[in-house]
Amino acid sequence: MAVNEHLCDRVIDYFNNQMTDEEKQAFEEHLHQCEACREELKELRELTGELPFMSEPVEPPEGMKARILENVTESTEEEKTNGTEPRTESAVTDIRPEPKKRRRGVPVWAFGAAAAVLLFSIIGNAVLFTNQQQLLSEQESLEERNEELVFERDLLESDYQALLEESDEDDPRGVSDVLLASNLNAAGQEFQGEGSATIISENGHVDLVISVRNMPDLEGEQAFQAWLIEGEVPVSAGSFTIDENGNGAVTYRLSGEESGPDQIDQIAVTLEPQPNNEQPQGDIILASQ
Ligand SMILES: [Zn+2]
Repeated sequence: MAVNEHLCDRVIDYFNNQMTDEEKQAFEEHLHQCEACREELKELRELTGELPFMSEPVEPPEGMKARILENVTESTEEEKTNGTEPRTESAVTDIRPEPKKRRRGVPVWAFGAAAAVLLFSIIGNAVLFTNQQQLLSEQESLEERNEELVFERDLLESDYQALLEESDEDDPRGVSDVLLASNLNAAGQEFQGEGSATIISENGHVDLVISVRNMPDLEGEQAFQAWLIEGEVPVSAGSFTIDENGNGAVTYRLSGEESGPDQIDQIAVTLEPQPNNEQPQGDIILASQ
């Protein structure tokens, strides 16, 4: 089996007559048993037999091709057998004026082999080109697919966001209502700071969030303090300081009974000499309308 496979590999060598007499004999014996090699050899001969006429538009007369092929394949045998059989030179003479001279210089089979190499290389290039075209179009369709996927991903993301928002609304624990949102404006002309007061109902609680920005630096023990003013009575909503950018915030939980948003007349921020006063000691610097 291994020997046969090895011989199958040598069909080109046989075709190109690149074999010793012993090898040739062995291969010809193999050829009787191996249909694959016979088939391949036949194809090689057909290919090279057609090649000389490829550049000529005129079809050769019927039968000429076969006679030439016969000549090509028999020429080596004839040399071996010293030409005991009459040569069929006439077919070759039709297209080659000096067959004997030419044969001595460049054997016909050598021309066939060279043509075969050329033809195979042309076929090979065509196959490569076709493969390349296929790869290019595959790449293009992959790129298109990628764009589609990106688009689908964006769609899914926005769907996901919508679902998140929906589930927030559906979830009773997540209920969040803004009951009041008010700007806190500077009470004095020279003061640059500003703030906002927001009363949020969430998870069954009511929270007041006061945030400030662009506030002036505090000195020493000083602190800002937020106040809910109900009628005449200010209720502390907590002291706070600010960061280096003048931003700060405080959150105050409103108990249901004492301080509903309806009862709050005003929200104010004072600058206190120290934090956590029962009643305001400093000036009001920010206040809601
Ligand atoms: Zn074989």
